[in-house]
Amino acid sequence: MEQSLIPAGKLWLVGAGPGDPDLLTLRAARLLGSADLVVHDGLVGEGVLALIPPHIERISVAKQRSRHMMRQDLINALLVRETRAGKQVVRLKGGDPFIFGRGGEELDAARDAGIAVEVVPGITAAAGCAAQAGLPLTHREDASAVSFVAGQCKDLTDQDWSGLAGHGRTLVIYMGLATAPAIADKLIADGVSPGLPVAVVERGTAADARVLRTLLADLGDLVAREKVQSPALIIVGKVAARADALDCLGAPGVAAQIRDFT
Ligand code: SAH
Repeated sequence: MEQSLIPAGKLWLVGAGPGDPDLLTLRAARLLGSADLVVHDGLVGEGVLALIPPHIERISVAKQRSRHMMRQDLINALLVRETRAGKQVVRLKGGDPFIFGRGGEELDAARDAGIAVEVVPGITAAAGCAAQAGLPLTHREDASAVSFVAGQCKDLTDQDWSGLAGHGRTLVIYMGLATAPAIADKLIADGVSPGLPVAVVERGTAADARVLRTLLADLGDLVAREKVQSPALIIVGKVAARADALDCLGAPGVAAQIRDFT
C-alpha cells in the first residue's frame, strides 16, 4: 500500500502561564523550541514570545487596533489545516488553556477533525496573581472554597453567582475590569457584605504588577480612580485582607476596616 509522504502533524494546546516566562512549564518551554508553528493570542507576554527561536513560524490571532480577534471558527480551521499539513503546531494561550481560554473548543475541533492533539496545562491568572500578592486563595481560617467566574459584559446579568462569595469563600473574577461597578452591585444585591475586602491585581507576575485593595462597595470607583488596565483580576473575600497590597480606599481612615478582617 502506498504510504503518505506527509509526516504526522500534531496540535499542542499549551498554557503560557500568567506572563512571567519563568512560570512556563518545562514541557511548554521545550515545545516552543521544537514546534514548526506557534499560533498565539495577545495575552501571551513578550518574555514568553522571546523564547521562540526566530526560525519558527509564528501567527498572532491577537486583537489588533483596526480589527477584532480572529473568529474562533477561523482559528480552529487554521489549527486543523496546519496540523494536517504535517506540522507540530503549538497553540499558545495565556494562563491555562482550559480556564476561560476556549481551549475546550479547540480540543473539540481537533477531535472532530481526527488530528492528534495534546493539552499542556499552564499556571492560570488566579494562581499567578495570588502568588504575586501573597494572597492565599484558600486558608484554614478564612476560605475553604474558591470559585473562578468570568465578568465580561455580555452575559453578566444571566450568571448566577449566588453563594460564590461571602463567608468562608473566595471569588476570583476574570475579565471583570470593564464591568467592575456592575459586579460589585450584583454581589451586594446577592447579599454579600459591601465591606468585604477586594484585591485587584494588574499585570500579575510582571515586574510592574500592581496589587490594589479596597472594600467591595468601592470596587468600581477604585478601578476608575487608579486607572487599572487590562489584564487585571479581581479577588473578593476575606483572604484579600492578607494580601501584600496597597490600600486604595476612597475615604481616608477606612483602611482600618480592612485590617479588621484579619
Ligand atoms: N486562560 C487564561 C485566562 C484568559 S481570560 C488564564 O488561565 O489565566 C483573560 C483574563 O485573565 C484577563 O481579562 C484577566 O482577568 C486575567 N488575566 C490573565 N493574565 C493576567 C495577569 N497577568 N494579571 C492579571 N489578570 C490576568
